[in-house]
Amino acid sequence: MIEGLYIHIPFCNTKCPYCDFMSFVSEDKSLMDKYIKTLKKELLLHIDNNLKFNLKTIYFGGGTPSLLEPEQINNLIDFIKSNVKCVENLEITVECNPETYRYYEFKLIKEAGVNRISIGNQSFLEKNLKILGRKHKPNHTIEMVDSAFKAGIYNINLDLIYAIPGQTIEDLEKDLYLYTKLPITHISAYMLTVYENTPFKEYIQNNLLTLPDENTSTQMFFLINDYLEDKGFKRYELSNWAKDGFACKHNLFYWTHKQFLGIGVSAWSYVNNERFGNERNFDMYMQILETGKLPIAYKEVVDEEELKKEKIFLGLRTTQGIDKTLIKNTEILNQLENDGYLNIIDDKISLTPKGLMIINQIVSYLI
Ligand code: SF4
Repeated sequence: MIEGLYIHIPFCNTKCPYCDFMSFVSEDKSLMDKYIKTLKKELLLHIDNNLKFNLKTIYFGGGTPSLLEPEQINNLIDFIKSNVKCVENLEITVECNPETYRYYEFKLIKEAGVNRISIGNQSFLEKNLKILGRKHKPNHTIEMVDSAFKAGIYNINLDLIYAIPGQTIEDLEKDLYLYTKLPITHISAYMLTVYENTPFKEYIQNNLLTLPDENTSTQMFFLINDYLEDKGFKRYELSNWAKDGFACKHNLFYWTHKQFLGIGVSAWSYVNNERFGNERNFDMYMQILETGKLPIAYKEVVDEEELKKEKIFLGLRTTQGIDKTLIKNTEILNQLENDGYLNIIDDKISLTPKGLMIINQIVSYLI
């Protein structure tokens, strides 16, 4: 049974130099209309293939979903609700660029059931935003939070990026102070990753930008957790903190092996022990659906062995951890526990902040 639906909206108003998501610059409303029609076609093809749904979450990610008109978002939500079985208290998230929606737009999408927004703020410091190539100003995010709140959307996430070139520990403290002053429920904090084939990679290679050293990045990693926990945000996953009751249900599906369907260019799905990914080229994606076929470009069966590995890898990202029975080598477990990298409580294993810092190494020991 599919419980989560991800919808990829690839349009952005600028291409950030660090980004390797499938997104491109376009504000062409007629192209967006065409894309929405294609998304509907894709969903109907899955329904024709007998996929079974009991949707608990819908997530509009991207790209920048808030470049769509609210009416376009609402039209798609209504279409989903009338074609797919959904629970009453659906969690519906829309990722927003701080420069876009305000009170009027939030009021409209709330009417269609949107009850959670995720704002790509990244930082409140102008120097960080400039280096990250973000166009918005800090006050745009403050205005956006205020507007969403006034429109009755209270479940609000703010993204934060750290370990940015030139960023100091004091800069991060200022950011954390400003984040936690706002009436938000959730913070996703990611260490800046430098991906291949991005302008950022070139800047770093050509010494035009320098990342903070390992010691500073490690200090930042621990500072974020200590600061946020102190302000009432509980970590529930490696990069995610929430006030009580506000963990993102949709993202938890990814880490707990619930079935989810992704529609849209480059979207991924996990259904009936199969993982599949859509075509990444926008024109190809549109053309394939035009011919009435699903735009699946990659598919793999997740067998028992692979599933076990994934349960360990993904489950250890969460603070609820994994079942102890998944790990046979108790000697390594005891060693890691003695060294302060993990906790074993009853039948559950979970990583400590020190363990989360080196999660990839720990996972490779365990599997
Ligand atoms: S707004 Fe987000 S998706 Fe768009 S280019 Fe920037 S980081 Fe990538």
